[in-house]
Amino acid sequence: MIVDFHCHLDLYPDPTGAVRRCKEQDAYVLSVTTTPKAWRGTLALSKGHRRIRTALGLHPQVAHERFRELPLFEALLPETRYVGEIGLDGSPEFKSHRREQAMVFEHILRVTAAAGGRIMSIHSRHAADEVLDALAGQSGAGVAVLHWFSGTKTQLARAVDMGCWFSVGPAMLKGKRGRDLVAAMPRERVLTETDGPFAMIGDVPLQPAGVNGAIVQLAATWNETAGVAQQRVLENFRALVVPESGPL
Ligand code: MN
Repeated sequence: MIVDFHCHLDLYPDPTGAVRRCKEQDAYVLSVTTTPKAWRGTLALSKGHRRIRTALGLHPQVAHERFRELPLFEALLPETRYVGEIGLDGSPEFKSHRREQAMVFEHILRVTAAAGGRIMSIHSRHAADEVLDALAGQSGAGVAVLHWFSGTKTQLARAVDMGCWFSVGPAMLKGKRGRDLVAAMPRERVLTETDGPFAMIGDVPLQPAGVNGAIVQLAATWNETAGVAQQRVLENFRALVVPESGPL
């Protein structure tokens, strides 16, 4: 069994095929969305697949175009235990929208805290400090899983102190910088992800089975066999999702 804790199943050219492959791979998948309007359709993809769970999101890269969907976000929130993809993106092409991004992210954290908290998959590219500041301001928002974390070692240490979890994928682990960050993460708070179909290896969008590439890298970083690393990720996953309401 494999874990892909951040995958955009609805954005593959053939979403139904992607879902079928998840089943073939025995994959536990967190199917994240980029807008509240996409949630119902994406949820429908998971019908009959008990290992696929759908997260309600509003991606920071579209926050300036989609902030009017915040009321829909609030209306749908009671239906799911998972929120994502949310967060902030401080890279040059999105920096000009940082005010709208911050408004959306802070609003989501506030209503999520008011709803009792959720498991959240969070984007923090070039905005790790700002994301951690926002999370620190809403400690009741739930468990933050920082996806594809690319901040500094200092920012990572702060995230670890704050209790954040991490989902890491083959694209992140290709480079030494990503591998050094993973080595500094607590092993019991690491999950695997692909971020498919956005993340690619070569020209090919990653499928959930692509997490096997991350397992190989994790095993090398942790100095253990791939089998042990895979088991560890599965145990981490269960520890995160099971306490509230039984297996995913
Ligand atoms: Mn993503």
